[in-house]
Amino acid sequence: MRKNIVAANWKMNKTDQEANDFIQTFINSDSIHQLNDSKQVIIATPYIYLKDTVQAVKDIPYVFIAAQNCHQEQKGAFTGEISAAQLNSIGVTHVIVGHSERRQYFQETDSQILQKVNNILQLNMTPVFCCGESLEQRESVNYKEFIQSQLNNSVFQLSPEDFSKIIIAYEPIWAIGTGKTATTEQAQEVHQLIRSAIAKKFGINIAQSTTILYGGSCNAQNAGSLFSQPDVDGGLIGGASLVTEEFEKIILSI
Ligand code: PEP
Repeated sequence: MRKNIVAANWKMNKTDQEANDFIQTFINSDSIHQLNDSKQVIIATPYIYLKDTVQAVKDIPYVFIAAQNCHQEQKGAFTGEISAAQLNSIGVTHVIVGHSERRQYFQETDSQILQKVNNILQLNMTPVFCCGESLEQRESVNYKEFIQSQLNNSVFQLSPEDFSKIIIAYEPIWAIGTGKTATTEQAQEVHQLIRSAIAKKFGINIAQSTTILYGGSCNAQNAGSLFSQPDVDGGLIGGASLVTEEFEKIILSI
């Protein structure tokens, strides 16, 4: 079902105490009272805080804890890595996959990302699949083809049933952590393009029920106008998700 979602991506930020303070402040805030089946929050913490945060929100409806990544293999000799099954075993429900920082700094490929998505789905968890173009691609005007190829090479290989279980995040790389947000028109253009591509591949019903989030310097000031676009169903928020008051204001915009 298409939902409005605000998802936090803490990346490699916060100490244990800071993570705990954030979660305690958040679960005692008014923002959680306006959540419902179609307005949800996901918080992607570093791996080491997942177990505690899952426990902390377990009685808070419509608030879910995500991992920021998982390894593509199911188990084995991959020192330092974490599998989807391990995340599942501690109650994690969502996993971000294919974030541009993973693609850029860890050379993740579309086929590895697809393998991760398949593992996550097999365990009945929800992948939050990220796609988006670099500044160079945006300026060379072939960004639309690039985004289409990211979809074709990964999540468009899924069955319609599996595809209908994923969340998509459009994150133009030039907007991530740069303070340079996409305009509402730029965001809507690509979200519409993604939804049309889904309709072409999987049919209009699946396209209409897919949640597509925007990510890239989204904050309390610009969230309202971005989320008001017809194909923008919420946001994946990095920097602005680190401070509870700012994050709560963003939640009030969905
Ligand atoms: C992100 O990394 O997913 C992101 C959107 O970061 P920021 O909001 O800081 O641009």
